[in-house]
Amino acid sequence: MQIDLHTHSSVSDGTEPPAVVIAQAARAGLDVVALTDHDTVGGWDEAAVAAEHLGIGLVRGIEISCSLAGRSIHLLGYLTRPDDNELMADLARARDSRETRMDRMVELLVADGFPISIEQVQAEVADGATLGRPHLADALVTAGIVDDRTEAFDRFLHHESPYYVTHYAPDPVRAVELVVAAGGAAVLAHPYSGLHGRTSTPELIADLAAVGLLGLEVDHRDHDDEARRELRGLAGELGLITTGSSDYHGRGKPNLIGENRTDPAALEAIVDAATGTAYLPA
Ligand code: AMP
Ligand code: FE
Ligand code: FE
Ligand code: ZN
Repeated sequence: MQIDLHTHSSVSDGTEPPAVVIAQAARAGLDVVALTDHDTVGGWDEAAVAAEHLGIGLVRGIEISCSLAGRSIHLLGYLTRPDDNELMADLARARDSRETRMDRMVELLVADGFPISIEQVQAEVADGATLGRPHLADALVTAGIVDDRTEAFDRFLHHESPYYVTHYAPDPVRAVELVVAAGGAAVLAHPYSGLHGRTSTPELIADLAAVGLLGLEVDHRDHDDEARRELRGLAGELGLITTGSSDYHGRGKPNLIGENRTDPAALEAIVDAATGTAYLPA
């Protein structure tokens, strides 16, 4: 069983529509894929139709952007109820705040002489999609200011850049509670990623485990062997499952779909823990 539990479509900052992401997963020989767009369930229905058509298992998920002491932490929520009021209200608040934040980032770039407009950014975003820095990166590419998303992040959009602006994001403890209350399974995404040090600590992970975190995403390209070893040890101590994924973003990142995978037993634990939305088997 080949299982990839973290991918993005153009409903957030991936470059392909949900149906194409599912088709790519099937073409890569995967048996199960999770669609986990940032802060939205907007791609779920299209993904479900495609998965049924192609005979591939589908885990409907989200990746919630969280914030703690200025650090950006990502939480995967699998199989949550799509009509859970509290979770949906929080995601809507984050998406609204992302719009204001983008206006401000564009203003800062314009003030420094980079000719970019919010209309140019919006032109890079699919209707109703979660707006993110990658869309601003795409607008900078289209405007000829940079060559690709990587250069845009390196020069203008990284966390310490003068053009970086934060947006509302829940505290990770609250995000785990929201996912669990919505009947979902919570898995901390790439806990030890981060260009300038790890985004999560063992202490935070223990705090999250105490409020119902189910697992840690261990096999991810942002983790070297040492990070994976430490995370596996921590998962063992705390009784958490471990997962693996590609974090596929279409042409938006070099990540290849299926490049890291999840053990079937971990998928089973997620399906067993979740009551909010059905897992769609192949
Ligand atoms: P945001 O949520 O708007 O702050 O944007 C964060 C997203 O940008 C992450 O989910 C990544 O998918 C993407 N990202 C971060 N760093 C890079 C990078 N160097 N190149 C391409 N995409 C990136
Ligand atoms: Fe992303
Ligand atoms: Fe992430
Ligand atoms: Zn992701």
